[in-house]
Amino acid sequence: MKKRILLSIGVLFVAICLISTYIYITSQTEKEIGKKIGVVVSILPQVEFVEKIGGDKVQVTVMVPPGASPHTYEPTPSQLKEVSRAKIYVKVGSGVEFELAWMDKIISVNKEMLVVDCSKGIKLIEAEHEHEEEHEHHGVDPHIWLSLKNAKIMVENIYQCLTQIDPVNQEYYAKNKEKYLQELDELDKEIAQALFGKENRKIMVYHPVWAYFCRDYGLEQIPIEKEGKEPTPQGIASLIKQARENNITIIFASPEFSTKTAEVIAKEINGNVVLISPLKRNYLENMRKIAEVFANA
Ligand code: ZN
Repeated sequence: MKKRILLSIGVLFVAICLISTYIYITSQTEKEIGKKIGVVVSILPQVEFVEKIGGDKVQVTVMVPPGASPHTYEPTPSQLKEVSRAKIYVKVGSGVEFELAWMDKIISVNKEMLVVDCSKGIKLIEAEHEHEEEHEHHGVDPHIWLSLKNAKIMVENIYQCLTQIDPVNQEYYAKNKEKYLQELDELDKEIAQALFGKENRKIMVYHPVWAYFCRDYGLEQIPIEKEGKEPTPQGIASLIKQARENNITIIFASPEFSTKTAEVIAKEINGNVVLISPLKRNYLENMRKIAEVFANA
């Protein structure tokens, strides 16, 4: 009888120890997460930018999720809740429609938050206008992140705001930033070399996101979609003609947009549609892959 009681007390004691250890560990991890700086970004490539500099000191949330288009996406209530807890919002800043439509609402949810404009210091390219219509991109091509030279400026802007919010860790951020800038720089040189001397400087793309990339390496994009709209039958005929004249055999499309027209044109020129995404979270790796695809086209 006595033995039994002692045994039960022993079991109870061990159980209490285990439970309190568990509670202690969870509260510690919660504290750890609470200590991280909440950063909200608009698009996926910015996640890599912030994480590369902020390391384990930041907790990054993205507004436009994988597969969605920054031209049309609307935030969910749970995303707005995430915004209300954030310290920093990192804007692309170049007139991405998601931001044009939602930035006021986002700021109203959290007025304390530091809002950074990633495009500060970047030379913007005028959007092409074939006809005088409603300006889809408000006169500026918003796809600034698809240039490694621009990415370096965006990273610099993010670094500035992180050190403003958390000056104690400035050295840590500076070290991370230097390392990442070097990686961006190396890839930029690699791509320039890979594309150097290529005779065909024209690429045909569905959604025209490559203006900044093309500017960096002396290429030219021929867009299928114009002003966010599908081309007319005459437009398609003229694109087929242009593709043939320029020996184009690959049509670039992206998983975020329709590929139907790209397929129609590819079939006519006996070419292929290749999918490349301008919005991958693993930015460096994705840009390397895209450059290889362009170089082989
Ligand atoms: Zn776009």
